[in-house]
This record gives sequence, C-alpha cells and structure tokens, in this order.
Amino acid sequence: MFNRKTNSAEGEKLGGMDRKSFLKMLAALPLAGMAKAAAAASPEIKPDGKKGYVNTRTGKPPKWGMAIDLDLCSGCGACVVACKVENNVPTTGDSHRKAGTDISWMTMLPINAEAGAEDQMRPTPCMHCENPPCVKVCPVNATFQTEEGIVAQIWDRCIGCRYCQVACPYSRRYFNWTEPEFPETYQQALNPDVATRPEGVVEKCTFCVHRIKNLKEQAKIDGREITDKDVRLLPACAQSCPTEAIIFGDLNDPDSLVSRMAASPRAQRLLEELGTRPKVFFLGKEKPLLNEGKEG
Ligand code: SF4
Ligand code: SF4
Repeated sequence: MFNRKTNSAEGEKLGGMDRKSFLKMLAALPLAGMAKAAAAASPEIKPDGKKGYVNTRTGKPPKWGMAIDLDLCSGCGACVVACKVENNVPTTGDSHRKAGTDISWMTMLPINAEAGAEDQMRPTPCMHCENPPCVKVCPVNATFQTEEGIVAQIWDRCIGCRYCQVACPYSRRYFNWTEPEFPETYQQALNPDVATRPEGVVEKCTFCVHRIKNLKEQAKIDGREITDKDVRLLPACAQSCPTEAIIFGDLNDPDSLVSRMAASPRAQRLLEELGTRPKVFFLGKEKPLLNEGKEG
C-alpha cells in the first residue's frame, strides 16, 4: 500500500501495487502541487461595474462549487458542527433525531460499502445543482439560483409546502417542524449574519453565501480583488476541516483549485445519471465509490 504519511511505497513491486494501480495513484497525486500552481495563477474576482461580479480571467461571473477529498476526510465531523454554529441551526435533541426531524445542513452519510469502498462516512452538503429539481417545483419562487450558481432560499417567502424537499434527490432540505429554540446561554453566540428560520419553512446549506458577501464587501473596502486563495476555505465547513479536505471556489475558472480537483480522475458526483449536474465533487480512491445520494 502507498503510505500517505511518508509519501512512499511500502512492500514489493511498486509498494505492492501493480503498474496500472501505481500509475492510477500517481494521476491522483498532483493536488498538493495544484495548490501551488493555482496560487501562482490566482483568478481575480471583482465587481463588473453593474450589480454583479466577474472573474477577470474568464470574463464570467464565478460559478461557486466545492470539492471534498474523501481520502483526506477523517470523519471527525468538525464540518458538521461548524456549519450548525455558523448558520444558527438549532440543536433539536433526541426526540427530533429519533423522529428524523432534526436539521443538519452538512451531514455525515455512509458511503455505500457494497460499491467496494471501505466503511467510511461522507460529509454531504447541498449539491447546489446546475439543474436543480427543487427550484423547478417551488410554487412561490422561494428557492432560486443566484447568478453565481448558488441554490438559495428565501425563508420569508417559503410557504412550507415541502415540494422542494420531495424533489431533492439528495435529501438535502429540511423542514422546521417546530419553532427553533436556542438555550439562553447560546443566544449571544448566534451569528448575526444569518437569520434564524421560523417554524413551517424549509431550510438548507447556502454555501455560506453571507461569507461570500462579507468577503466582497471587505475586498471593496480594501480596494483589492478577490483571489482563489481567499475563497478556498471560505465556507465554515471548509474552514473548520483539520485536513483541508473541503475546497471551495470558482468552477468556471479551470485554474482554480476546486476546478482542478473536479477534473481529477478521482472526482465523481452523486447520482449524475439524473442530469442534476451537482456542483459538489467527491474525490475518492476508486470508482464507483458513490452511488447513494439519499439519507438512509
Ligand atoms: Fe471530514 Fe474535514 Fe468534515 Fe472532519 S471536518 S468530517 S475531516 S471533511
Ligand atoms: Fe454549511 Fe456553509 Fe458548508 Fe453549506 S457551505 S454545509 S452552509 S458550512
């Protein structure tokens, strides 16, 4: 087996691997180098002079996406906790968990062991599909795609019909069955950048859109443009990951780190056959690794 820590092969004959497996592994390795290359050629994202933002290299608005390297993920769940804290997701307790009505925008889901993968969990946020079924079924346009490809939700407009929840093939939407409650000691820790959601509405991962907005505002104040390096660990889940398994960025830019990861032979998307075109890519050792998108 190849030893990730020592970066060396162990055992006989190319670390006990045959030539084909060894070459396959080499093809998957350049990510560390990619980080440096991407830093050298950082895209710059700046206001387009109207209302939006444009990547100066592609001439297009950024298309935000995420890549999650499952070989780096230790399953610690820090991303899950960070997402809850960042986005004021209430901890609903055992009764909701048992009833399946608890809320967790980022969830650890088991990888399908039958597909040949080891017993491992997969951090799973909203896929922010390019062709999102949830947006099509919402009767009041409470969920929509932003110009930068984020599948957004207007809490105040949601009428709680839950069509979107049924339409999402990845089960990434959550209904508030009760008014969210936060312990008194916790209330001062609520994030003022994210509104809490009332009973009766559906909520989901936003790709931490408030952090993107804050970054744009700060860059404007500083009189500078936004680079790939600024956004790679921007979402709370990515920032909290001790192994930097989660990378965020502009999928329109082929030189961004997230695009390079998405182009890796190790990259796959969930339920691609549905034509939803998820903007979250998972990198794993073997294919097929991920043929389950639904929560069990
Ligand atoms: Fe995996 Fe990183 Fe999430 Fe931990 S924080 S579960 S290592 S992705
Ligand atoms: Fe949660 Fe933000 Fe990560 Fe989405 S991008 S799972 S909202 S922390």
